Amino acid sequence: MPRIHEDKIDEIRSSINIVNYINQYINLKKAGKNYKGLCPFHTEKTSSFVVSPEKQIFHCFGCGKGGNLFTFMMDYEKLSFMDAVSKAAEYAGIAIPRYEEDKTKNDYFQNLYHINEIACTHYEKTLFKSQHKARLKYFLDRKISESTIKIFRLGYAPDTYESLLNQIKKSGVDLEEAAKLGLISRKEHGAGYIDKFRHRIIFPFFNISGKIVGFGGRKLREEQQPKYLNSPESPIYKKGEILYGLNFAINAIREKEFVFLVEGYFDLLRLYESGYKNVVASSGTALTETQAKLIRRYTKDVYIVYDGDSAGIKAAIRNAYIIEKQGLNASIVAIPGEEDPDSFILSKGEKAFDKLIKERQVPVQFQIDQFFYDYPTPGIEQKQSFSAELLDELVDFDDQIKIGIYIQQLSEKLQINESMLVSQLNRIKRNKSRYSKLSRPNNDNTDTPAEPVIRAGLFNAEMGLIGLLLQSDAQIRNFIIENASNELFENESTLSLYEHVIQEIEDTGIVNIDHLMIEFKEDETRKNLLSEIALTLDDMSLKFARDCVYQLRKRQLDKKAVEIQEMIKNEADSEDSVEHYSK
Ligand SMILES: [Zn+2]
Repeated sequence: MPRIHEDKIDEIRSSINIVNYINQYINLKKAGKNYKGLCPFHTEKTSSFVVSPEKQIFHCFGCGKGGNLFTFMMDYEKLSFMDAVSKAAEYAGIAIPRYEEDKTKNDYFQNLYHINEIACTHYEKTLFKSQHKARLKYFLDRKISESTIKIFRLGYAPDTYESLLNQIKKSGVDLEEAAKLGLISRKEHGAGYIDKFRHRIIFPFFNISGKIVGFGGRKLREEQQPKYLNSPESPIYKKGEILYGLNFAINAIREKEFVFLVEGYFDLLRLYESGYKNVVASSGTALTETQAKLIRRYTKDVYIVYDGDSAGIKAAIRNAYIIEKQGLNASIVAIPGEEDPDSFILSKGEKAFDKLIKERQVPVQFQIDQFFYDYPTPGIEQKQSFSAELLDELVDFDDQIKIGIYIQQLSEKLQINESMLVSQLNRIKRNKSRYSKLSRPNNDNTDTPAEPVIRAGLFNAEMGLIGLLLQSDAQIRNFIIENASNELFENESTLSLYEHVIQEIEDTGIVNIDHLMIEFKEDETRKNLLSEIALTLDDMSLKFARDCVYQLRKRQLDKKAVEIQEMIKNEADSEDSVEHYSK
């Protein structure tokens, strides 16, 4: 039930060049007639993500994901189809008729955002109610201004069981859905639901479009557990896929050309309050690769500002390498002593913080200083284990120049011959690649793993026929329709795509790849197969069509021949013939 006319959708799609659009997020380089870049859907070091300006589709030859502009927006920006179309229209400057308010009811994702919005508004209002003055004071005491509270839409979940529940009921929202979002939960005894967040300060999590995907609730009483209660994963919220505060920071990041990465919500609010608006929080100590990639969309330079204690230092170093391995530049702003960024700025002021920023260090430098702080006069063994630990990180870098610079620094500071360090690095590299051959590295827990697709023989010939049908050459098309048939296909996925394309030709006389992509938007297998076929096949001659049909027919005849032989053999082995021969 498209609420925007198909022609309008076509107009929007065709007025945007997919290469330019994707290039906003991923650095694409021209390679022949296509563009190539690092795939955003799986972790890789060599580019196998191909975008075709001619066909206006993309395909990753590493993980197999493919599609067109709209499916890219759906998969990458986590939008519903209709939201992708509206966003694309806005991007292209095309006006689309506003659809009615209640359209959200039809859209599953929209509905979930809607429920979170109800909850957020409720928590916000509650914070400002006079009976909860003490909660508001909690922020004001921490020098978080009312305007910052309102920007980040901070709130309070009261110490009762049915506060949000009543609001949700009033709004006519499906309680089951609200429970899925972790806002309410079923009572342990008896029927009905209770509020999940109780007596907690609420931090809503936003995606980059500013929609609420989940919540974090900080405890207010010592005995409460856990300290931070977070929303569970849901169709709109995946842990480690958002960065807290990013939606508010985008413009400032672009303007300043770098981003501050802090650990906690209050560190972020402090920096924001103090005018450092290009700040995001990892909210948790371990940064994920997905989060690092998210940063990469906006800037290459990340200033890590973590707590000054040993846990904070460890986390800063670990995250610095996660960031650097994504091709970004990390530097560490060292907060002295046991302070955190929030307390440091509050007690020492912005000038002192600016000075720390100026003194920031690249991770290797920072680590070396840390090492000499721990071991003022290190022995050989200590140097060795330290350099091994450091080289172990560097080995995963793509940037050879950076590796060179870091090794040089290490050599100077530790007084170790540079060429020794290089050969040690190469040894680690060799060991690692040997290891990875034995066990397929699968440390990639946030991206879709690139699973090898098992394909029966002559898959290419089956794909070839589909590719040929996608062309508008009538002669070739008729040849295939007359000479090929469903029985020629052995792979289920190619068969179902072939049938679909034939049906489309019979119904409309043409095949429109974009229309097929939209039809397959929820059908990962056919969508990916279609983009692969469209991007791999170039030989669109009648001869190629004949070859494909010939090969597939030959396979069928071979199979039949084997069957007949089997039959003859079985007959020969049967009792009749045994009698016959024994006579
Ligand atoms: Zn990929």
